[in-house]
Amino acid sequence: MGEEQKPLVQVSGLGMNFSGENGELEALDGVDLALYPQEFVSLLGPSGSGKSTLLRGLAGLLTPTAGEIHFAGDKLPQISLVFQDANLMPWRTVIENITLPLELNGVPPAEAQARAQSWIDQVGLKGFEKNWPRELSGGMAQRVAIARSLIQEPDLLLLDEPFGALDALTREKMAGELLRLWQASRTTVLMVTHSISEAILLSDRVVVFSSRPGRVVLDLPVKLPRPREEGVRYTPEFAALARTLRKAIG
Ligand code: ADP
Ligand code: MG
Repeated sequence: MGEEQKPLVQVSGLGMNFSGENGELEALDGVDLALYPQEFVSLLGPSGSGKSTLLRGLAGLLTPTAGEIHFAGDKLPQISLVFQDANLMPWRTVIENITLPLELNGVPPAEAQARAQSWIDQVGLKGFEKNWPRELSGGMAQRVAIARSLIQEPDLLLLDEPFGALDALTREKMAGELLRLWQASRTTVLMVTHSISEAILLSDRVVVFSSRPGRVVLDLPVKLPRPREEGVRYTPEFAALARTLRKAIG
């Protein structure tokens, strides 16, 4: 990341309120955050600290109460959001779920099929093209969701606890696979996670939110060399970063 590089997204003084029965609820207050092209940034913070709210704001699903979200360039970047639940279409097969965004964009069927097949191979679902979502494990369903996002070649990929519903071993495996996919595609990623080690393994920076209203309490660069392998989890540098993050979360 060069010093003079412009951020892809600049969030400045962002506030987000929700109005409810008991008046206004302040979800975010004065959030400043820049995301640079090709960066992988993770977001940690207590439950209810506004992490999902920030992602929904970035995806254009919520309007800021204060401050602004500024995207570089004169056209809006292509943004894709992946949730904890895969949210697959139950009446479409694996490959049909992955081709869907291309179909909606008018990509010719033969090209959509070929591109989907390539992503199916890359996320390790070869042989499951014709299966139905109900026949998949949680990890496999999330692979489909990730392939469905990446096939759109987003400028910004937002991941909201993508592995939160998976068991610990599947989760570690998926994190390693996401690392590999990102190293190949180099799209800008902002990932919400509760796992400190997952955040360190994958990220160029880890941002920590305070409890509600969320604001940035730590923006920690992760200077571990890339490409990274699973083994980096067991180095002293990794442990030191984990301690710093642990402390900041409180
Ligand atoms: P996190 O993802 O960090 O757990 P959220 O962004 O989901 O936190 O929520 C932050 C706060 O905003 C919480 O107190 C939550 O209850 C509240 N909130 C989120 N979405 C809404 C909404 N649509 N209406 C009212 N309150 C909301
Ligand atoms: Mg959330």
